[in-house]
Order: sequence, then structure tokens, then C-alpha cells
Amino acid sequence: MKIDTRQIPALGVILSEEFSPAELDLDTETIKFCGPIRAKAVISKSYNAIGVSLSLNAPMLASCSRCLQEFNASFNRQIELHYAADKLEPIIDLDPDIREEIILSYPINPLCNDACKGLCPKCGCNLNEGGCHCGST
Ligand SMILES: [Zn+2]
Ligand SMILES: [Zn+2]
Repeated sequence: MKIDTRQIPALGVILSEEFSPAELDLDTETIKFCGPIRAKAVISKSYNAIGVSLSLNAPMLASCSRCLQEFNASFNRQIELHYAADKLEPIIDLDPDIREEIILSYPINPLCNDACKGLCPKCGCNLNEGGCHCGST
């Protein structure tokens, strides 16, 4: 998403854009985006300062940190970005900042469910699917 600081009206402007997660290279071992990322930016300009209030949402697949199963989750985040208007470089590319904000807000230990029982430490079976028979539980 790019904004041209010369073309922001006094009352601000709203931009909507969809981009593919692959464009921003967002997938990690535990998080995969499985659909387009929708971004809506409310852009305002006052004197030389550009404010961007951005809401992002996208469907994603996360791997549970306890049982390792993938589950559907959604990414929703509101971020605020600030830039200085620069006459020499009027085009601001938001993508690097959007990418960084998304990656910083990944859940560190995603859980398929707060009550997830995880895997048996002995035999590795999924304890959410019933007790295991190795005798450790
Ligand atoms: Zn789990
Ligand atoms: Zn077991």
C-alpha cells in the first residue's frame, strides 16, 4: 500500500486494499495466512505529519503450541503509523511497516483452545482425542 502525500485532502482519505500474504513474506513455522489480507487505512494529514490508522484482517492457520495441530484463526489488528511529509519523497510505501507490525503481533504460543491438553510427554499422542494407553496419564 502506497500513499502519495501530495494527494491527501484536508479532510483525510480512506484507502482499502487487499494483498496476498506471499507478497509480504509473512509465513512462519507456526503461522500461515490462508487468504488475502484486507487492509483499510484512514489517512489524515496535519501540517507535515501524516497519520495512518490501519485495520488489518485476514484468515490464518496457526499451529497449536501444545498439541501441534493446525487450527483456523483470524488475524485482526489495528495499528497506528506516523510519517513526516517529505516534499522530495512524496510517496510513502507502507508495506515494510505493515509487515513488521504483523510479524510483531503474532501470538508467541498459539493455542487451539485454552483448555488444550497437548501431547502425551511419553508417547506423543494427542490427549485431546482421549487418554492415551502408554500408562503415563
Ligand atoms: Zn492444541
Ligand atoms: Zn502416552
